[in-house]
Amino acid sequence: MKTFNTLLLAGALSLGLANTGLAQESAQTAKMLIEKAQTSTIGWDLLESLTTEIGPRLGGSEAEARARDWAVNKLTMLGFSNVHIEPFEMDGWQRGSIALHVGNPYPQRLVATALGGSIGTPVGGITAPVVRFETVQDLIDAPVGSLKGKIAYVADKMTRTQRGSGYGVAVQKRGAGAALASERGALAIIIRSAGTDYQRQPHTGGVRYKEGIPAIPAAALSNNDADQLDRLLRLKADIPLTLSMSSKRLGRVKSGNVIGEIIGSEYPDEVVLLGAHLDSWDEGTGAIDDGTGVSIVTAAATLVGKYAKPKRTIRVVLFGSEEPGLIGARAYVKDHKADMDKIIMVSESDFGSGRVWRMDTGIAKADEAKADAILRVLRPLGVLPGERTASGGSDVSALSGAGAPAISMVQNGWDYFDLHHTPNDTLDKVDPDDLAQNIAVYAAFALMVANTEGGFHAPEKPAAED
Ligand SMILES: [Zn+2]
Repeated sequence: MKTFNTLLLAGALSLGLANTGLAQESAQTAKMLIEKAQTSTIGWDLLESLTTEIGPRLGGSEAEARARDWAVNKLTMLGFSNVHIEPFEMDGWQRGSIALHVGNPYPQRLVATALGGSIGTPVGGITAPVVRFETVQDLIDAPVGSLKGKIAYVADKMTRTQRGSGYGVAVQKRGAGAALASERGALAIIIRSAGTDYQRQPHTGGVRYKEGIPAIPAAALSNNDADQLDRLLRLKADIPLTLSMSSKRLGRVKSGNVIGEIIGSEYPDEVVLLGAHLDSWDEGTGAIDDGTGVSIVTAAATLVGKYAKPKRTIRVVLFGSEEPGLIGARAYVKDHKADMDKIIMVSESDFGSGRVWRMDTGIAKADEAKADAILRVLRPLGVLPGERTASGGSDVSALSGAGAPAISMVQNGWDYFDLHHTPNDTLDKVDPDDLAQNIAVYAAFALMVANTEGGFHAPEKPAAED
């Protein structure tokens, strides 16, 4: 295992911390935690155990229930207090099987996967000519009724970026495409995967149907197969496809969030909340999405509890059923309305194990100097100052949206969408050194936030416009 730049870390930490709320002693303790994280195997062991012993853990499934028991057991063994499950209900779903075939004159099979939550096709499948749209906007521009008896296909490619910002655009066709296509009369929709690889593996992910618009089957093609279909369509514009899917929506099923705490020594009621999600899609073993997040926040809080005395409580929340649509996060906000004002910081790890390279804040202006002091301790780990618009991450955005201060540790996501939501999301893709850097960042960050004098406050709301 490589070590971090120990020269930098070993150097005297004579930071100008006056008036930042961060005591020199807490900064030194944070520095010690950074060193501990380099040699600790807690994080890797958790990740290996979760992805091996549980494997895929679809929200609302029996496997996700086993993952909750796994988490309760691990948190208890690692010394957390108040370890418990907060249950909720949701609509279940079963992937089933899929087959997608091109008709004459170029008969062949294409590789596709059902989008999460999709309905199936009638037995025997749907055979219809395909209509191609370059972008979601082109689909929106198509007149109502114009796709009657057709299969819609949205073909736009995802752009690779370090921040993963190509995903926000690429994912629109996955979320909204089915309702838009159905509204225009389509029998089914297929999309190019919202992903950046060429491994001939489609990327799944949730589809959002719209109340009052008939649900239609929705599937994603691998990027290789989307290219193939594009070529076939150049040879024959209205080539027929046959899509057969046995996916089905189940009734109400059980899910839940798992919670554990490192209790604060001075202000136990005040909470630094670290989140990640326990569920995964069902095709890989959920290593980078979000086994790494579970491992990072759990290992970080464990190290704080083991080697430091945080003044405030550090609460780890392992959310259930994030992938089907932030269902656990919504349940958490609903159940915790009364103690919302006790949360002085939220942050979530849900972006694989790429190194943290930037810290974004979503806090009151008056608290920015405190965040700057924390950042100075994290600088030797390669963390840069970032934007002031952080939500904290996918699940905890429900909390920051409800008024909690947030900090986002921005990770390198250059390769993340090569694996995201695919069968290829497995343990071998995780670099132990990168994982350790994340754990070091979160451990030091959690301790310093827990010990910062005066705590943190939500950003001022923008003045209402007349
Ligand atoms: Zn995720």
